[in-house]
Amino acid sequence: MNIYAIGRNYTEHIEELNNERPKDPVVFMMPDTALLRNNDPFYHPDYSNDIHHEIEVVIKVSKQGKNIQEQFAHKYYEEIGLGIDFTARDLQQKAKEKGLPWTIAKGFNGSAPISSFVSKTTVDLNNLNFSLEVDGEKRQNGNTSMMLFNFDFILAYLSKYFTLRPGDLIYTGTPKGVSAVKIGNRLVGYMEDKKMLDFEVK
Ligand code: MG
Repeated sequence: MNIYAIGRNYTEHIEELNNERPKDPVVFMMPDTALLRNNDPFYHPDYSNDIHHEIEVVIKVSKQGKNIQEQFAHKYYEEIGLGIDFTARDLQQKAKEKGLPWTIAKGFNGSAPISSFVSKTTVDLNNLNFSLEVDGEKRQNGNTSMMLFNFDFILAYLSKYFTLRPGDLIYTGTPKGVSAVKIGNRLVGYMEDKKMLDFEVK
């Protein structure tokens, strides 16, 4: 199972990190050992002092395909969920300065909490609100209408380079409001009013 992730997909998040607006999706991958399921706690590693939460909508590939046309991309996923793309911002910053890969900063153990999945037919994919609370305070609020690249475009784009397979996950980028988590924080993620994630940082 492969885990793909898209960076810089929401304008205001690009601005808060002073990044360039991409012409094509920014793609990176994470190992499946990054996944954290069932609201298991996130154990804060000691090699970073600046681990940021990034709440993201995640799509689950349902059918094998490559070179998928955008107009048919919707046939390749049936379910969506909510995930967090924890990022060791200090390690990522060092890598960015040297033009090196982000793999460690993005793909470390437990860096990708994932919710259960719901049928895509239960939501409006192009106008879906999602949010993250830390200790009861709203930190991130997003709507999928604000994505630079929508789900179908992302899936088609990835499939040009990678054969997508059932069970593959695609983290689709975070809206503004990222910030560091601390031991003891409780993170709760919502898709519309539905609580999808609820776990502690330990
Ligand atoms: Mg992200």
